[in-house]
Amino acid sequence: MQFKNIIGQKPVIDRMLSSYRENRVAHTQLFLGTQGTGVFPLAMAFAQFINCQHKQENDSCGVCPSCKKYEKLSHPDLHFFFPTTTNDSVKKDPKSELFLNEFREYATKSGLYITQSGWYNHLKVGNKQGSIFVRDAGDIIQKMALKSYEAPYKVIIIWMAERLNDSASNKLLKTFEEPPENTIIILIAERYELILPTVRSRSQLLKIPKIAATDIKEALIGRFDLDYEKAENIAALSSGNWNLAQDLIENTEEVQANFIAFRQWLRYCFKPGDFIELNKFNADVARLGREKQKGFLNYGLEVVHQSMLHNQNHNDLVLKKDEELDFSSKLAPFINAANQLEIYQLLNEAVYHVERNAHPGILFTDLSFKLIDLLQAGRKSGRQ
Ligand SMILES: [Zn+2]
Repeated sequence: MQFKNIIGQKPVIDRMLSSYRENRVAHTQLFLGTQGTGVFPLAMAFAQFINCQHKQENDSCGVCPSCKKYEKLSHPDLHFFFPTTTNDSVKKDPKSELFLNEFREYATKSGLYITQSGWYNHLKVGNKQGSIFVRDAGDIIQKMALKSYEAPYKVIIIWMAERLNDSASNKLLKTFEEPPENTIIILIAERYELILPTVRSRSQLLKIPKIAATDIKEALIGRFDLDYEKAENIAALSSGNWNLAQDLIENTEEVQANFIAFRQWLRYCFKPGDFIELNKFNADVARLGREKQKGFLNYGLEVVHQSMLHNQNHNDLVLKKDEELDFSSKLAPFINAANQLEIYQLLNEAVYHVERNAHPGILFTDLSFKLIDLLQAGRKSGRQ
């Protein structure tokens, strides 16, 4: 990771650069910042910079042998420690060393913007919380004792240092106090109060603030091809958290896709003469994965709910805007006392059957025919 690829955080980067230039890089540092602010990528960019063989004034070169190994997270003088727990492949005595490949894979996939929940998901351990164990502490001490292979600085990164359990922390106190020469320990944490005071007092604190909204906006435009207005909206909602900003984009894209598909589906169901198009549509939905089918049906439930709110004149409660609002308000007269409960139940049951592996082709065909009838009933009742 080079500094130029970090999202925002210019003042922090400047502080890092001047600490290096002024030769006051502390041997044990604590980088503190909340999720999505880029603490891990900043630590990586800093470590890559101090070891780069062809440093530029304000950044590593990105191409020297050291930088290349850093970019792959596989430099022999770079060591990672992080929370782990048992999973399908490690059934007892988990520790970082046993999960190094997974960690590299996850960090690379995330563009280094890693999160605790993302990591546990990657390990497929659900909500189980990991720890950094005394076994890991033993490994850290062992890594320190080795001579460095090739780099000017050996770097030990301890990600989520608040997950160091007490015995691991205590075992490492002397190491934090006085690591071997040319060794830099970077502790990364989100919550200061969960770190033992004895560990805090042995490290130099660097606080990483939330990313400025303008920096998030620029990154969104640059990396996701979003238009200016959308990027500005998402940046405002993301409260300085790059991971949240990315989730919001995926979410808006999915909502948009569901909206278009659902509107199309109802149009076909309103014109029941045209079975060819409807069958084609059902076949397309049947090919989507189960999660997408559920997302589509849940979106439908939401639209039915919004239409009911229109009908009850609770327009202030309708959350949609623009095209979606237009759609649900036009649909509203056709979703009424004659059919609203049945449509709601129909979609709900469909979600239930999707979860239980119903045959999607049959399911959506059946659903479409029932919906045609229900919409007709609603139309008749709407006219009265
Ligand atoms: Zn380099």
